[in-house]
Amino acid sequence: MTNRFFLLDRDGILNEDIGYTFEPEKIIIPEGIIDILTYLKQKRFRFVVITNQSGIARGYFTQHQLHIFHTCLQDLYKKHGILLEDFFYCPHLPEITGECLCRKPKSLLIEKAIARYRIDTKQSYMAGDSPRDVQAGKSVGLNTILIGSKPVPQADYTYPTLTSFYEDVENCIF
Ligand SMILES: [Mg+2]
Repeated sequence: MTNRFFLLDRDGILNEDIGYTFEPEKIIIPEGIIDILTYLKQKRFRFVVITNQSGIARGYFTQHQLHIFHTCLQDLYKKHGILLEDFFYCPHLPEITGECLCRKPKSLLIEKAIARYRIDTKQSYMAGDSPRDVQAGKSVGLNTILIGSKPVPQADYTYPTLTSFYEDVENCIF
């Protein structure tokens, strides 16, 4: 078993971010992500999801609904031959539930994933569409990939879109 992982942000990476997404029927798989993950799978990367879900603290959906959503997302990716092995999520929002250690850019979710799967951080990556994803990944020594137009100094690689990341994926993976 390889301990090379891609830690993936969820909204904006694995499903289109329509704002507090929790309804399985509203899942849209973004263009390019299947190609990216298929390539990374061939390179023996494994995948887990690291996601802030303050919609729970805000009362927009329940943990149960979130679990159903994650099962559906997992099934959709399985149909494309991609295994999302685990979901680590933060249900908090400081203004409502108080400070926590898990909401990105804090790193507790990532640290849990690292411990559970003995992830080799030097050979692994955090990819997300928010500066918070990059900050959280960097703070534990992961390589970082930002999909977005606003540059973040800590990002090792920045691409405006998932498709542009896919076009260059072999250059940023070692
Ligand atoms: Mg996101």
